[in-house]
Amino acid sequence: MDINKLVRKNVQQLTPYQSARRIGGQGDVWLNANEYPVAPHFELSEQTLNRYPEPQPEKVIQRYAQYAGVQPDQLIVSRGADEAIELLMRAFCEPQHDSILYCPPTYGMYQVSAETLGIKTKTVLTTSDWQLDLEGIKQNIDTVKLIYVCSPNNPTGNLIDSDDIKALLNIAKDRALVIIDEAYIEFSPESSVVSWLNDYPHLVILRTLSKAFALAGLRCGFAIANKPVIEALQKVIAPYPLATPVADIAAQALSKDGVNTMKLHVVNLNNQKEKFTKLLRQLPIVEKVYPSYSNYLCVKFQHDKDVFNILWRQGIILRDQSSSIGQQNIIRITIGTQAECEAVISALKTIK
Ligand SMILES: *Cc1c(COP(=O)(O)O)cnc(C)c1O
Repeated sequence: MDINKLVRKNVQQLTPYQSARRIGGQGDVWLNANEYPVAPHFELSEQTLNRYPEPQPEKVIQRYAQYAGVQPDQLIVSRGADEAIELLMRAFCEPQHDSILYCPPTYGMYQVSAETLGIKTKTVLTTSDWQLDLEGIKQNIDTVKLIYVCSPNNPTGNLIDSDDIKALLNIAKDRALVIIDEAYIEFSPESSVVSWLNDYPHLVILRTLSKAFALAGLRCGFAIANKPVIEALQKVIAPYPLATPVADIAAQALSKDGVNTMKLHVVNLNNQKEKFTKLLRQLPIVEKVYPSYSNYLCVKFQHDKDVFNILWRQGIILRDQSSSIGQQNIIRITIGTQAECEAVISALKTIK
């Protein structure tokens, strides 16, 4: 029996998200997934695993609301920000009819989630400096319910101009939600748009513990929005999205000490990023290191160098962006420990 015939048509045609882990590789320097380079230590304090967890763990909600500067009813906690990306589509988009809009090059999961759910996608490429093409968005807004904008943007590392985000919110008014994916906002906290929530009922902000909080393995993320949006998301989320140990550790990570530790990590990584940028810029094979407001660098190499594969074979695993729109000869490199950054520099020096 050909099981594939039973699979939904749109799922038959899907290519799974090319996550760093799925692409594989063998090595000891992993700089391809924008993870924090050192594992934090936690101990479980909850031993009540015979019971179902709280649907929305109160301590996590209280602490994240305080950290983000919002009210607890403006927040939903999910199994990573990736789940929140999809919850929005499930709550707001009619399959086959409504569309989402996003602006490549950007994070790949907006497309994957939409295609999985049978929701149409519209893409409006960013301008040459990786900013929003507002005119193009305006012309494509028919049937669009959700507009996903990532700032700082993955994979390019730049911030989206805040006046443009305001203009986008005005374009989308009474038509669509504007979702600002702030997965990397801890590296440029002054650029968050969270304080705009009172002015824009259709603004949604996505956050995660996977990047600056060093907890990619925990799977914990958030959507922040005004109460009517949050209530719609509550209707479609799984009954128990966070396992008890996940909520336990998330609450610890969001304690005063936890937040202070995160802020120290950010200072260190931002310093490391500056040093790494300088060293990269001294290398002849490097054409450009783009300014980064996140924990990774977008680096353009001379076109005739096979940098990605040469480093891959040495066990240094980076993220090749070459096949993405406008990303020819660009490699995305996560900021690792000092030793890891030095390993990258040494390996690059051997390429002539
Ligand atoms: C890593 C990342 C996410 C996903 O975060 P999780 O909480 O790990 O699911 C979402 N958006 C962007 C832009 C990311 O880079």
